[in-house]
Amino acid sequence: MPPHALIFPLPMQGPVNCMLKLAELLCIYGISVTVLNTDHIQRTLLRHTNVLARFSRYRNFRFRTISDGLPDDHPRSSERFLEVFEGMKTVTEPDFREMMISGCFGCGSDNPVTVIIPDGSFSFVLDVAEEVQIPVIYFETVSPCAFWTYLCLPKLIGAGEVPFNGKDLDVPVKGVPGTETFLRRRDLPSFCRLNNVANSITEIILKEARYVPRAHGVILNTFQALDASILVHIRTLCPNVYCIGPIHTLFNSRFTTEPKPLTQTPQSDASNSLWEENTTCLAWLDTQVTRSVVYVSFGSMARMTVNEMFEFWHGLVNSGKPFLWVQRPGLVIGEYDVDQVPKRLVNETGKRGFITTWVPQETVLAHSAIGAFLTHSGWNSTVESIMEGVPMICWPRNVDQQVNSRFVSDVWKIGIDIKDSCDRVIVEKAVKDVLDVRRSEFMESVRMLSELGGQSVAEDGSSSMDLDRLIESISLL
Ligand code: UDP
Repeated sequence: MPPHALIFPLPMQGPVNCMLKLAELLCIYGISVTVLNTDHIQRTLLRHTNVLARFSRYRNFRFRTISDGLPDDHPRSSERFLEVFEGMKTVTEPDFREMMISGCFGCGSDNPVTVIIPDGSFSFVLDVAEEVQIPVIYFETVSPCAFWTYLCLPKLIGAGEVPFNGKDLDVPVKGVPGTETFLRRRDLPSFCRLNNVANSITEIILKEARYVPRAHGVILNTFQALDASILVHIRTLCPNVYCIGPIHTLFNSRFTTEPKPLTQTPQSDASNSLWEENTTCLAWLDTQVTRSVVYVSFGSMARMTVNEMFEFWHGLVNSGKPFLWVQRPGLVIGEYDVDQVPKRLVNETGKRGFITTWVPQETVLAHSAIGAFLTHSGWNSTVESIMEGVPMICWPRNVDQQVNSRFVSDVWKIGIDIKDSCDRVIVEKAVKDVLDVRRSEFMESVRMLSELGGQSVAEDGSSSMDLDRLIESISLL
């Protein structure tokens, strides 16, 4: 049977982006690939990208879709994302099972699936896969450091360390080997804090921690040199780990210096954006001084109150630095009157600010004018920033972001973690620290990591070799 991978991303920008990159990489190495997107994600992708044209060049590729069980007009926003999991439980799970058992992917079809590569949070996929005896290789699109805390979660709960209330957040956490000297309660994933949705998310993550180690392997979007201290622990529970990151760099490298014979030529213009990209910001960046601009973006899901938005805005303006701010639709919770915006903010933003709804982030981070990234510490954003040598100011919101930001500040020492506060004075100070006061220290560390990341995707680099190993495993399964 020819190898045929079924890739099944979590319906969110970050996972969709890096799993489509994996899909394209597998295609160019001759593996048949089907990407199974939710209807909603597929519609959004088609609206804003050329994915259909791009992937139509691969004879061995196809898209399939499945319902996420929610009505078209559901916002699928971060605070209602649990409803996506609920919709998937009632509608997607049985539909997926039917597809695998008797439908288009089953052994009776013309090109049966030989391996499934789902998002790490899709525990139900392993149940179905075991029933039909198809191996699963999970793709953990969160960071290794956060994934390691997930794997430790049963013990943390057993020891009474988790959950905790909003007090004493600086208490050190003892139950995550390898992090004892720097991890505090406030750095654990957001669902470890007691609140009304935390229990349901914890249930999903606990299941993930039980299921992922049972799979044939797990793919991580990192490189060995970045996460060596954590990978050693992950491997005690998941021995077969493929570190093929930074996947966007590995992907880009295959457009230029591919050392191995390919069955098909990869295509450029590889946007997987779920929003329309504004590229006029690039011309604005061209007019700015080298390494002077703060790029501000909180990813595809994170949200903030009107008050938090104004604190950031004041802090940025008070820093006196130019800024490019992505305010995607839905970023701010609630409405505010434009007359509420102080005249000074409007005037100063006119002089040295650029606000837009969505940008080609990888290209923006690669621009020589960018000197700092004020980020929510999503894992893709973190890796993209590292690879472009841009130090970060971290304001984490959900899930893995709290852990990532602690690693940025205390392990890799490539930025400042302002978690749990966005007071304008703190924002202003962080911007000045990263762009001026501690600039050389951060730049040196992040450049070193970026170089190591570059080496990992070169021929014989650790990520290239893990990709080769992954392709070989898929071919043999
Ligand atoms: N992104 C983008 N344009 C923007 C903002 C974000 O292309 O204006 C991309 C970014 O490059 C990254 C993804 O959206 O690949 C966000 O993923 P991340 O894991 O950082 O955060 P999430 O959105 O999952 O919270």
